[in-house]
Amino acid sequence: MRSGRKNENIDIIAVTKTVDVDIINESINLGINNIGENKVQEIQKKYDNINDDVNWHMIGHLQSNKVKYIIDKVNLIHSLDRLSLAKEINKRAKAKDIVKDVLIQVNISEEKSKFGLKKEEVVPFIEKILEMENIRVKGLMTMAPHVENPEEIRYVFRDLRNLGYKIENRNYENIEMKYLSMGMSNDYEVAIEEGSNMVRLGTALFGKRIY
Ligand SMILES: *Cc1c(COP(=O)(O)O)cnc(C)c1O
Repeated sequence: MRSGRKNENIDIIAVTKTVDVDIINESINLGINNIGENKVQEIQKKYDNINDDVNWHMIGHLQSNKVKYIIDKVNLIHSLDRLSLAKEINKRAKAKDIVKDVLIQVNISEEKSKFGLKKEEVVPFIEKILEMENIRVKGLMTMAPHVENPEEIRYVFRDLRNLGYKIENRNYENIEMKYLSMGMSNDYEVAIEEGSNMVRLGTALFGKRIY
């Protein structure tokens, strides 16, 4: 690998949106153990037909009123980006007597079309959700702008990593910067060089999506 890092430290999330359950199950048989979806409806539709031994990741924008449908299905929510959503996840997790692992989505590039907190909003946000007992922050997630040359967006990944260090240094109880979910098919190499340990790959694994 170009970064020289060992791949055992990097989780690959196979992004299975629009991919049929048969193909997903085949990929699980081939060793995929993490799958990512960006729509609640698609998780609901596929869930019962996917092999058990896989972790589900909610990687897309999550509406609060849909949390209840996935709270006991997904292992990690990558897209926590507002207080109202945190409250809802905490409430629904509590009702099921579980603790839900989440990543905070950060909009490093501040593109209008992207969800996520601004960099400077993340620490104040964490301080607001520290008391929520049924949520565990496990790291950060970002989506970089789509560009031809991923070198142009290296700063996005670097900024997210540095934000992770900053949060780690504050030593909050119950908050861990274990995962940096960054890098997609087009830019995962640069993301890994900048410290990603969770890449979300769709087209690189399954080919171009047909909507
Ligand atoms: C679709 C999607 C991906 C994967 O995109 P590819 O370019 O196909 O690898 C990653 N993350 C999120 C949040 C997505 O919605």
